[in-house]
Amino acid sequence: MKIKLHQLDEEISKFDFQLARKDLLKLEHRFSFDSMVCSAELALKRDTVQFHGTYAVEIETSCDICLEPVSIRLDQEFDLILIDEASYLEPESDFEISTQSEDVDFYRGQEILLSEHFEDQLLLDLPFSIKCSENCRGICPNCGVNRNVESCQCSDNRGSSPFSILGDLKG
Ligand SMILES: [Zn+2]
Ligand SMILES: [Zn+2]
Repeated sequence: MKIKLHQLDEEISKFDFQLARKDLLKLEHRFSFDSMVCSAELALKRDTVQFHGTYAVEIETSCDICLEPVSIRLDQEFDLILIDEASYLEPESDFEISTQSEDVDFYRGQEILLSEHFEDQLLLDLPFSIKCSENCRGICPNCGVNRNVESCQCSDNRGSSPFSILGDLKG
């Protein structure tokens, strides 16, 4: 969804829309979802766009450790300041970014690509590692059993590593 700068003024304009999985190009393939419900409130102050976004999405993926399905519910808000990339790149520009808590990003060619900003935010909000539970015990590398469901005997005979065979050969 694209917003032209001339559509905006100092009053807040609200845009509600939904993104489908195919709209997100940077999100890794292992994440899927039905729809991401987005809302953007935009106001233009001189050349600067104040952007307040909220979104909700339920992402289906799998546990990094045991590979069982995991769903992650995200209900997030964020604030951005968008500045004109062209004015920022001018070497003579007297542009100063005030050190506010909001993040600064760019718009290009008098256009704001809403979906891009929501996707970037989703990538920031996703947990770095995805686990079905804090104490997921994973899959046994030896017999392949999901150790959250069954236990196996493999951990009992750690001594039988490939190196113990090497030791026998040397002897
Ligand atoms: Zn797990
Ligand atoms: Zn095992």
